Amino acid sequence: MNSDCKEKITVDGLSFVPYIRREEIRKEVSRVAGEIRRDFEGKKPLFLCALNGAFIFAADLFREVDICDSNIAFVRYASYQGTSSTGEVKLLTGLPDNIEGRHVVIVEDIVDTGLTAQKMIADVKSKNPASISFATLLHKPASSKTGFTPDYIAFTIEPKFIIGYGLDLDGKARNLPDIYINTED
Ligand code: 5GP
Repeated sequence: MNSDCKEKITVDGLSFVPYIRREEIRKEVSRVAGEIRRDFEGKKPLFLCALNGAFIFAADLFREVDICDSNIAFVRYASYQGTSSTGEVKLLTGLPDNIEGRHVVIVEDIVDTGLTAQKMIADVKSKNPASISFATLLHKPASSKTGFTPDYIAFTIEPKFIIGYGLDLDGKARNLPDIYINTED
């Protein structure tokens, strides 16, 4: 197995150490994909990937779910600046117009306060889908301000700042194949 993971990295003056290795990520993404496949086989799900953070997770999940007549679309919200949430969630791109009557599976990188998830679900609901489900790579239940629990969760983690596998620090570090945790938190 490839595990040439850097032991310690610094981004914008903050230190990070390995937290979840790529092999573990692959295993849990595969588990979540199996759960979604079981629940949506024959239902033509529409995956709605939350940019930018979820693009790597969504690409792996979408292929691994492997339902031929599923679709994927993209949406973009913002609430984070640096390493903390601003509490204000903004929709930066419009929702796709093909949501009505579809079984929508929102794909998010991380659920922290739950405010972004809540706003996304309300926005999608206003377009009259057949159903809405929520899949996340990471969930930080201890940071929740909403009590929201995603339907599909790859990893439940402590309330610390994470980068890698799509997650950034002000645009940097998304390309790391492993997930790293901030040691200063
Ligand atoms: P929420 O609205 O649940 O507080 O936060 C959702 C968004 O905040 C995520 O989509 C992600 O962009 C950002 N976020 C929350 N926690 C982290 C984290 O630990 N690392 C990074 N890179 N982004 C985070």
